[in-house]
Formats: sequence, structure tokens, C-alpha cells
Amino acid sequence: MRDLRTAARSAADLAAEHLTGVAGGPVRRPVSEADRAWLTRQPLPRDGRPLADLLDEVRDRMLPYPMGNGHPRFFGWVNSPPSPAGVLVAPLAAAMNPSCAGGDHAGVLLERTAVRWLAELVGFPHRPGAGLLTSGASMATVTALATARQRAFRDQGHDVRETGLYGHRPMALYASAEAHSCLRKAAELLGLGTRYLRTVPVDPSCRMDTGGLRRLIEADRRAGIRPFLVAASAGTVNTGAVDPLDDIAGIAREHGLWFHIDGAYGALGVLADDAAPAYAGMERADSLALDPHKWLGVPVDAGCVLFREPAGPRDAFSLVPPYLRDEDAGELGWFSEYGPEQTRPFRALRVWATIAHLGRAGIVRLVRHTTGLARTLAGMIEDADDFELLAPVVTSITAFRHRPPGLGAEGAEALNEALPAAVQRRGHAFLTGTRISGAAALRACVLHPETTPEDLPVLLDEIRAAAREITS
Ligand SMILES: *Cc1c(COP(=O)(O)O)cnc(C)c1O
Repeated sequence: MRDLRTAARSAADLAAEHLTGVAGGPVRRPVSEADRAWLTRQPLPRDGRPLADLLDEVRDRMLPYPMGNGHPRFFGWVNSPPSPAGVLVAPLAAAMNPSCAGGDHAGVLLERTAVRWLAELVGFPHRPGAGLLTSGASMATVTALATARQRAFRDQGHDVRETGLYGHRPMALYASAEAHSCLRKAAELLGLGTRYLRTVPVDPSCRMDTGGLRRLIEADRRAGIRPFLVAASAGTVNTGAVDPLDDIAGIAREHGLWFHIDGAYGALGVLADDAAPAYAGMERADSLALDPHKWLGVPVDAGCVLFREPAGPRDAFSLVPPYLRDEDAGELGWFSEYGPEQTRPFRALRVWATIAHLGRAGIVRLVRHTTGLARTLAGMIEDADDFELLAPVVTSITAFRHRPPGLGAEGAEALNEALPAAVQRRGHAFLTGTRISGAAALRACVLHPETTPEDLPVLLDEIRAAAREITS
């Protein structure tokens, strides 16, 4: 252990130096051929080495090549820098190394608080046991959809865990054209069939068109297909749009559908005063997926699924028969009775530390700061004659196109398709692209607490410079 103590001090220094040095370096650096070969083709060592030697290789061969999301000018996808509090406690979670499947120890007890805090932060009603941490929103979505599936079959007098889907009438679920692919993955995995995953059209603000939702539900009913779930987005990946949650909740209630919300990225946006009204109805969901490893900055991995009722997920996942419950596991039982994972890491420590360090006020500041920057960027885009804004900014994502004067529609399409990679290659900012209404688009997602207004013109100038490289 003396070996560990010395090496751990060096590791702490390395981590701190890495984090303080990130902003001064390039957002991303290409992996050298020698390091690529080392990273991918090392032979299995016959003999071990001292701990300190391992750190040399982490320092020389790994730390120089991060994904880029620690940098204040990383605007790609939905990836945040790690919270310092999360980095601080991650090695301690490893040192304790519990399995949070269940039992009576700090890991599972703290998870109760972490989940309740997340619910309180986003204003979701919480009952003990009604939620758990997951690897991410993808697994949160699987957990939610499996629970909804179980309930839908129960309502018809079947136990789908026993019969599978064999011999049952198809059930339809509904998500907008802007919904995240994790919904499709979950639907496929649960045997629901993408054929019955209906794509609801969106309005010009990229929000679910509730008239379209109604029409699809009614058409399914007429065709003898049973509608069972609607999944809304609270913050889409493309534009940060928040679906009309209150209206969708009403439709779900009217038709007896499970109401799921994907708030993986955007649920926290409810903390920004000007965005909050868009979230009305979020508290009406049956299940809400949100990712502490997105906006909140908890180091990967930390997802969460919240439920209105704790009985639902337990009914869908528990293998402990009711007559054996309440014994020594306590009233709520094990976390492994509420989701697919058995051995579960001590994610709660990173979530707890991040929230405890920032406090609610600090999280509100982070959300306001980043949504404010996304709005500022949108304003700059509207004022520029070579950019066009593609969607209103609700959360902290700005979706836009570069359109140098004189460039035709076809040229703009090719240019915007090529731009993200070209901007990334230059290394001064990191941007990713998408398609909006069928056309190539750029999107900037602001999640870094240290991104400043001065970084925004740098981003636009980097896009212009990359465009000149492409067209010349
Ligand atoms: C990131 C994200 C997901 C997927 O979550 P993972 O944590 O990557 O599994 C789903 N939906 C939205 C809106 C996201 O931003």
C-alpha cells in the first residue's frame, strides 16, 4: 500500500495538471502514429510492473489525446467537462469498490439521496424507491420502456415476463422525428419492433406536433393496434427543443398511454428562468430519463431514471418473490430489483459530490450561464450575413448553417457537411453536425462552465476559416 500512496499522490497531481492545462492547449490533437500503435497493439505483458511506471504511460501516451470535451471551446455532441468534485471522489469509489446491487452499506444508502436530489432539482415528484442510477440514458430508457411494457400487458391480464411477446396483439409507441436513437434501440431490444415505433412529425420549432400524435394514435386504434407509450423529449440533441409536455401528458392520460420523457441532456434546463415555462408538464411523466453525466458534469458514467411509482420497475425486474421481500433487504429491496444491472458501481458518490459541491444555486448558475451563451451565439448568427439560425434556442444548443453570400443551396449543403471535420482538424474549436429538416446543419452545444462570450466569435471565425480551406 505504500506503493499506492506514493503513486496516488502523483496521479492526483497529473489529474490536476491535466485539468488546469486543458484550456491552454488545442481542443483535440491527432494521435501520433507511434502512440496509436502503442495504444492499440500492445502485447499482453508476461510480468507486471510497479504502479508508478503505469502513470508514466498514462501521462505520455493517453493524457495528450482526450476526446476534447474538457476544453471550453468543445461544442460537440452533448459531452461535458468533468466536475472537479466528481474527479476528486472517483478514486475513492474505486477504493471502496462496493457493488450497489443492494445490501446495507454507504453505496446503496447514498444512492437514495442522489436520486432524490436529482428529482428535486428538476421538480419531479419523488417517492422512495422510484428511481435509480444507470450507466446512461440509454439504459435508463430500456428500464423505463420495460416497465411500461410490463404495465401495459398487466392491464390486459398478461405477464409478459412469462409469456414474452408471443401471441400478443402488437402495441405501438410514439416518438418524434427528433427523438434520440436510444428509444429505437430500447424498442428493438424489448421486442416491440421498430415497425410499431411511430414517428410523430415535428413543427417548425422541431417540437412534437401533437395533432400528428393524435392522428397516429387514432389510426392505430382503428387498425386494432394497441397504443401504449409516448416518449417526449425535454431537450433534443439536434436543437435542444422541448416538446409540448403538458399537451402530451394530456393526450397520454386520455388514451391510457405511459408517458415517458427523455430529459437525458435537457431536463436541467428547467432551472433557467426563461426556459422553465417550456418544461411545464415534465412533472406529469410516468418515467423521466436524465443524465447526470451530461449537463451536470458528473464524470462518465452516470445516468438516471425516475419513476412516478416505485412499484412499476420492481414489478418489471424483481426476481425476488413478494413473499421473500421486506426481510433483511429493507422495505425497498435491492436496486437490482428495479433494473437490468446486477453488480452496479458506486455512481452515487460522483453524483452526490458534484451536487454537494455546486449546490442548487451553483447548478442554476451553470445552467443560466450555458443557456445564456447559446442565446448569445444565436444572436451573433442572426446578425451575421454568412450564417443562418435553424431553430429557436431553448436550452444550450444552437443549430445553424454557414451560408457565405453567393453560395447556392447545393454548395451550402456540401459545405456544411464538410465543415465539422474541417473545424475539428484545425484544433481551435470542436463542433459537430447533424441534419435538420433533411439538410446538413451545424450545432453548438454549450456545457462547459468556463466557456466565455469571447469563445463564441472564435467559433464562428474557425468555421469561416475552415470553409475557406474547403472551398479553396
Ligand atoms: C445522450 C443522450 C441520450 C443517450 O444517453 P446515454 O447516456 O449516452 O446512454 C439520449 N437522449 C438524449 C437527448 C441524449 O442527449
